[in-house]
Amino acid sequence: MEINPPEYINKIKAYKAGKPIEELERQYGVKNAVKLASNENPFGPSPYALKEIEKSLLKLHRYPDSGGYELRKKLSDKLDISMDSIVTGNGSDDIIALLCKAFLREGRKVIMPDPGFLMYEISTLSEGGIPVKIPLKDFCIDLDKIAESADENTSLIFITNPNNPTGSFITKDRLENFIEKIPENIIVAVDEAYMEFADEPYNSHLLMERYSNIVSMRTFSKAYGLAGLRIGYGLMPSYMAKVLNKIRQPFNTSSSAQVGAAAALDDSDFLSKTRKLILSEKKFLKYGLNELGFTVYDTQANFIFAGIDQPADEIYEKLLYKGVIARSMSAYGYPLHLRFTIGLEEENRLLIKSLKEVL
Ligand SMILES: *Cc1c(COP(=O)(O)O)cnc(C)c1O
Repeated sequence: MEINPPEYINKIKAYKAGKPIEELERQYGVKNAVKLASNENPFGPSPYALKEIEKSLLKLHRYPDSGGYELRKKLSDKLDISMDSIVTGNGSDDIIALLCKAFLREGRKVIMPDPGFLMYEISTLSEGGIPVKIPLKDFCIDLDKIAESADENTSLIFITNPNNPTGSFITKDRLENFIEKIPENIIVAVDEAYMEFADEPYNSHLLMERYSNIVSMRTFSKAYGLAGLRIGYGLMPSYMAKVLNKIRQPFNTSSSAQVGAAAALDDSDFLSKTRKLILSEKKFLKYGLNELGFTVYDTQANFIFAGIDQPADEIYEKLLYKGVIARSMSAYGYPLHLRFTIGLEEENRLLIKSLKEVL
């Protein structure tokens, strides 16, 4: 016999991750495959992080610091925010899940962009919440519609800035204007996984001085090149952080993750090298994709969202045979769009060359 979970758990569709390189090489018999599917840092991990992690390995028999003191201290200094307002997580996915677990009740609504990051919906449904999915408008998050939809049955709002999968951006003024319209008893969680790539990154958490319902989420998975380490954090009013810290796993971030993330914060060379590559290669890819007949959208992230008059699934599949993993947006409701992570120079050139051959 099978034991059934609650009906709301049955509704969850499993997260579909970007195809790992090893899997492609196994299944398609290609070598030296290039992954431009999960918005990872093409340079690899931050060298500072690697060095410090290596040094810390001899202490792996000890439990991590449950409070993550060193990392939170560093973040606190860097971001000019109290340590009591920082919650670290097993990736920012963990913070998303913890917010839902702590502040959602069965039957209450969570507003999110559609399409959007799948973890908002999965975490909402996991708590018996009701996802309210607001369609993008001109491929941007429709803040007006979201504000209109926020009612007395709403507990949480997720927005993504820069947005995934389209790369659109919400300026500081527009964000503030939006939060102003949201009732104080609804949490506004701003997912800033790609903020380091924005033309002019800003610290949304400073709005916390005036609004007691804002949460900013950041990660080490993208700009810092530590996706495999699993570490991210949320910045929130201390009353909220206290709640999340009570219900999280005491060791939700490993000792390596804490040490690596703290070191990466000091690695400003790595960060600026990464930013520089993304900004210059973005130009190259935009040009190349345009030449091939794609409609290319403005992006402030490390990926490019592009549309074409051919089924994206077919292009995705054909690219796999060339050893290039992209992301078809058909599962996100855009059957004629793809998302390409900006990679190293040679990877981007291979992408354009391969697209030329398969289109
Ligand atoms: C990649 C990404 C994250 C980061 O997830 P981690 O769990 O920190 O690796 C969060 N939100 C969005 C929108 C992302 O694309």
